[in-house]
Amino acid sequence: MKNIQRHRVFNLLQESSSHLIGKEVNVKGWVRTRRGNKNVAFIALNDGSVIHSIQVVVEVQGFGNDELLRQITTGACISVNGTLVESLGKGQRVEIHAGEIFVYGSADPEKYPLQKKGHTLEFLREIAHLRPRTNTFGAVFRLRHALSFAIHKYFNDNGFYYLHTPIITGSDAEGAGAMFRVTTLDMKDVPRKKDGGVDYSQDFFGKETNLTVSGQLEGELGALALSNVYTFGPTFRAENSNTSRHLAEFWMIEPEMAFYDIHDNMDLAEDFLKYLVTYILENCNDDLEFLQKQYDHGLIERLQHVTQHTFQRMSYTEAIEILEKSGKKFEYPVKWGVDLQSEHERYLVEQHFKKPVILTDYPKEIKAFYMKQNDDGKTVRALDVLFPKIGEIIGGSQREEDYDKLHKRIEEMGIHQEDVWWYLETRKFGTAPHSGFGLGFERLMLFVSGMGNIRDVIPFPRTPQNAEF
Ligand code: ATP
Ligand code: MN
Repeated sequence: MKNIQRHRVFNLLQESSSHLIGKEVNVKGWVRTRRGNKNVAFIALNDGSVIHSIQVVVEVQGFGNDELLRQITTGACISVNGTLVESLGKGQRVEIHAGEIFVYGSADPEKYPLQKKGHTLEFLREIAHLRPRTNTFGAVFRLRHALSFAIHKYFNDNGFYYLHTPIITGSDAEGAGAMFRVTTLDMKDVPRKKDGGVDYSQDFFGKETNLTVSGQLEGELGALALSNVYTFGPTFRAENSNTSRHLAEFWMIEPEMAFYDIHDNMDLAEDFLKYLVTYILENCNDDLEFLQKQYDHGLIERLQHVTQHTFQRMSYTEAIEILEKSGKKFEYPVKWGVDLQSEHERYLVEQHFKKPVILTDYPKEIKAFYMKQNDDGKTVRALDVLFPKIGEIIGGSQREEDYDKLHKRIEEMGIHQEDVWWYLETRKFGTAPHSGFGLGFERLMLFVSGMGNIRDVIPFPRTPQNAEF
């Protein structure tokens, strides 16, 4: 086959490819569908660069290689040399009139699982190794990329440094959830201490270690030196919560800012979320339109709505009053002191205020030890951002910078000093007011993609009883 310059389908479908019309081009990709008759074949070829496929037209008579043409079925991977021409058909600007075709890999129509369109998302989860080949997952994964890129861009443009916090951690003080143990000990012959407990001194790190639930504590160390930092990495929770909003392995974005109080923190959270949603609206229109048509007819309007309205800010206490007065029967009853469930959060956002809500000043009993204590002795300077369809999308706070108060809270909560001595030292040496938050990347992906289940916005979901792919 002749060596001709390869083009991505994305580029060929742009207006800017006009100068290529009439010229020979090469495209490589996977066959989505093949239609036609014994004279002419229409192949929809997709290379993942864009939701659309490019149409390849083959004059069957005179092509002269029937065996090769037989292999061009849904799922096959091919390389095409041909002339780019303006298309007479509806729905595409250009198409390729094939000269030469090479088959990299055929896909037996009897066996290829994605032979037909319209598989359920549940079925596609069972073939997570092939589902990137569908239009849906192509769109979702391109959105995931765009969103990741926008996150780094936002922080870079605003003077934040990307700090890589550890995945394996020696502290379990964060208290955000059950952890996965990391060990090289022989499970069949675990070394024991005299009292019968496991002797972790013989383990790889000489102590008990786990996969991190959050990069925040280390993020704070960075903020108290570089002023504005963020982490963006995988986090792990071993909770057995089989919901459409929880994964055992998910990605979290955690900015941490010195000299920010809770109001600065809220301003950042709101500006950041609006920036990200705007970025997606401006850069991912084709994929959004596809997802809107297939899954969520209100998607684009909901995204625009978030960018256009000021988030409602109020205290947890005020929110409880609204919920109590609502007259709604919730599955989990509300009263001051309870942790809000997503049914409560979604009521506030979707029915009461009809826009995103930021709640602050939660009871200290339901929040982590490091949150700044209010003078009332009951609440802490926590903030949660609540979104339509999702509920909590961000959890954050102003941090307690006072050594004595933090130390006292650590004792009250029974946290082992030897786990957090290094964290406490930041309050001993050059402490400063500071704040931060954690944004669940897949929660935001749920929001921007309109998908209903968190398993469908990450390439390889990790959930209880599921780590096949
Ligand atoms: P939830 O109450 O929804 O279980 P959380 O309060 O345990 O969440 P945080 O510890 O505050 O969550 O984590 C910060 C953010 O990380 C949350 O606001 C959410 O967006 C995301 N998040 C938390 N747990 C999960 C999970 N299991 N899967 C995916 N995202 C999660
Ligand atoms: Mn939370």
